[in-house]
Order: sequence, then structure tokens, then C-alpha cells
Amino acid sequence: MTDLQQRAAEVAHIRRRHLAKGDPVPPPLTMAAMFHLPGEPGNFHQYGRSENPTWEAVEEMLSHLEDAEAVAFPSGMAAISAVLFGLLRAGDRVLLPSDAYYTPRVLAERFLKSFGVTTDLRPTASFMEGGFDGYRLVYVETPSNPGLDLCDLSAVTSAAHEAGALVVADNTTMTPYGQRPLEFRVDVVVSADTKAPNGHSDTLFGHVASNDPTIVAAVREWRKLSGSIPGPFEAWLVHRGLETLDVRFDRMCRTAETIAPRLSAHPAVRNIRFPGLPTDASHDLARTQMKRFGFLIGLTLASESAAERFINECALIQPATSFGGVHTSAERRARWGDAVAPGFVRLSVGCEPTEELWKALETALDGADQD
Ligand SMILES: *Cc1c(COP(=O)(O)O)cnc(C)c1O
Repeated sequence: MTDLQQRAAEVAHIRRRHLAKGDPVPPPLTMAAMFHLPGEPGNFHQYGRSENPTWEAVEEMLSHLEDAEAVAFPSGMAAISAVLFGLLRAGDRVLLPSDAYYTPRVLAERFLKSFGVTTDLRPTASFMEGGFDGYRLVYVETPSNPGLDLCDLSAVTSAAHEAGALVVADNTTMTPYGQRPLEFRVDVVVSADTKAPNGHSDTLFGHVASNDPTIVAAVREWRKLSGSIPGPFEAWLVHRGLETLDVRFDRMCRTAETIAPRLSAHPAVRNIRFPGLPTDASHDLARTQMKRFGFLIGLTLASESAAERFINECALIQPATSFGGVHTSAERRARWGDAVAPGFVRLSVGCEPTEELWKALETALDGADQD
């Protein structure tokens, strides 16, 4: 934790080393397709699809947080696509979680398959079962979104590396402050910075981080050749968001830890998933591999209508898909066809003062049960 706190302390000072007297303290927003480039191109900024100083500012910050080289993308899915399309070849087999964020599964089915890449699915909670023989790439998401099951990162990387597979971890739900998959020898981390890292629900963004120079080079080349590049303004917003990630994430996780036991004791709540609860199936593993327990809570209420009432009538819940904003938000995941109960609600705890938020949630839960 000390090393991580040191990183958090340094994050807003990283730019200082580049500054000359009179320079602006925040990074300038560089909107440029062209750079002044007479004669031999050399090692200068050349063209807006290849390089941009504002991307470099946010990548320096992300690399500092990840303690690995980070490459920025215009969304979480763009980062995930860069890993899949940049690293896989025809004939490769991939293992994806059956219960994690659904878009990578759809992408694999709709596009990777036709390029000769086969995909298998396995639930996060039993991810080790069946081993990893024959896979080129094993992809984990822990805690899984939305069910909040965990898999053992250390056990997965050991077995997958033994079988010759690369391990990719989607760390979106935890951020680099909450969980550090690279420390468990995961080869590549992908993240949707759209969520808590940007934190203000106003932009999409993503990144890939790895200590393997071949992997970093492949995703950088994919970005340049495919044109899947972040906008400079989005990079600037995420840079600003990252300066407060530590404070926001700390408040969100702390509040989640305070309210989870109270939610669990409320009669309207039929089931609860939160890795921080000692009664949760994932708690022991969470204690060994996560720095924090996160800010997502899975609640099952009696019915679809009870869940809708809770979400829509609570004064401090923003009914919305996505998560990780400064405002608490929630949604009923069954509306998208996720394999969860009709009354299952994914609650994303925001930065509101804890006791005020609890009062609003409790009032809404009291009302939700009035069938
Ligand atoms: C949101 C999300 C993504 C995709 O991110 P976008 O920025 O929407 O493309 C990927 N993985 C997880 C776990 C997510 O929650």
C-alpha cells in the first residue's frame, strides 16, 4: 500500500519534470492533425494519427499508475480490440469469461470467428476448471461485471503460462488503485477509463498496460494503422480526472464498505454480492488479491418492479447504464439480457456523503418492497 500511496501522491506532480519557467502547470490541449516538419521527419511529432502531446501526458500518468507502459485508446472496447486484433492470428483459441462484460464476447463471435480465431466461454467463479491447454490467450475479468464473482489471478497466470497462453485482465471494475493484476504476472491489463478513472460520465476512454515491449509495440501499431485513436480533448479530460481518482475511489470504496452490511440487513434485499462482506463467497480471495473491495454492489430485490422502483425513485440514484461516476448510479442488468435475476440491481456507489446516501437508499428500499 505504501508504494501505491507514493504513486497517488506523485500523480499530480508528474508533469513538473517537463516544465520550463512560465509554462502552464496543466497540460495544454493540443488539437493538431499536422505538426511543423520540414526536411527529414526524424523522431518528432509527425501526424495526428501517430502521435499527440496530450495523449503523451495522459499516457505518462496512466503508466505511472500502472507501473507499466500504457497506451491510450478512445474507449475501453478500442483498448480490448487492440489487444485481440493486435495479438491473435488465424488458428488461435481464446478463453473468455461467460459472465463478464458482454461486448468482448459479441466481438469475438461476430468478427474474430470469421478470421479463424475460436472462442470458448467459462464462468469466472470456476475459471480454473478445465485448465488452459491449447489456448493462445486467456482473458479474465475479476470481479466480473455484473455478477461480482472473482477468479484467482495468481493461479490463473501460473496455469495459463504453463500452457503457453498469454493472460489479459480487464481491470475496469477496480482501477490501478484497487487491484494490480500485473503484480500477479498477468501479461496485459485493459481498462475502460470511461468509468471511475475519468469519473465524470462525460467521455469514453480506455488503455492497455503491459511490461512486455512486444505487446506494447503491437497495440501501438494496431492503434496507428487501424486509426483507433483517442481525441486530444478526451485525453485532456481523462488526465484531469486521474488527478482526483485516488480521492474519489477512496470515498466510493469506503462508502460501499459502510453501506454493504446495512443493505445486507435490509428486509427488501434478498441477496447481496460485495467482495468486502465477510459472508461473500469471494471474500477470502478478495482479501488476498485486491487492495480495496471496489464500489460496485450487486443487490437482488424481490422482483423486476421492486428493483425498478428502487432505482427510479431514489433521489440519489442516477438510473443509467455504465458505472464509476461521482454520482451513485444503478441499473437492472436483466434489461440487457445478462444472466441475472429480474430483480438484480448493479449499484455503483458514488462520491456523495455516506450517511446522506444511505438515508436515500434506505428510504427507497423501504418503498421498493411495497408490492
Ligand atoms: C464499460 C466496460 C468496458 C467497455 O468500455 P467502453 O469505454 O464502453 O468501450 C469494458 N470492460 C468493462 C468491465 C466495462 O465495464
